Amino acid sequence: MLRIGVLALQGDFAAHEDVITNLGHAAEAVRRARDLSTLDALIMPGGESSAMLRLMQAEDLGGAIAERIRGGLPVLATCAGVILLAHGVSPWQPSLGLLDIDVIRNAYGRQVHSAVEKIRLVEEFAEPREIDGVLIRAPRISRVGTRVDILAWFGNDPVLVRQGSIIGATFHPELGRDTRVHRQLLAMTGNDG
Ligand code: GLN
Repeated sequence: MLRIGVLALQGDFAAHEDVITNLGHAAEAVRRARDLSTLDALIMPGGESSAMLRLMQAEDLGGAIAERIRGGLPVLATCAGVILLAHGVSPWQPSLGLLDIDVIRNAYGRQVHSAVEKIRLVEEFAEPREIDGVLIRAPRISRVGTRVDILAWFGNDPVLVRQGSIIGATFHPELGRDTRVHRQLLAMTGNDG
């Protein structure tokens, strides 16, 4: 059984915890730096990135998370979590800069304020490759660095990316029925037996 930390300061961390538990692994709430010590992987959920940034300042939790990710801890970031990891954020706000993409916050505006859209997974995934993706005031990925693989598209926009041990989804796989994105995180621990 893997120990999957879920950053639980704010946002929809409980939905991620349910997915991990349903997949037979232990979901552990991360609220302080010491909660990071024994994890096999980390999930940074959706919510409000500016609020999370503020809460992550306590005990420099943000710095501790960055250190573990640089050390190779596998991470799945969704929506606000992607904004926290991105290199560049527009309108500007601080970020950990560990994922070489730029994002525009709330870029889909009201049309996609909260919508289920068809998302196309790339060929490394088995069928079905067209899945439902829940977009909730999602950021738009406006630049993708050369070391970043695009794993899914919504129209012409990347919505699922991977760089080394980091997976970022601007949609919410934890709110859909398809668990493949979470299972990819588990596989990245090299220990999901
Ligand atoms: N708009 C939010 C932000 O900027 C992200 C929305 C989400 O995580 N569902 O933090």
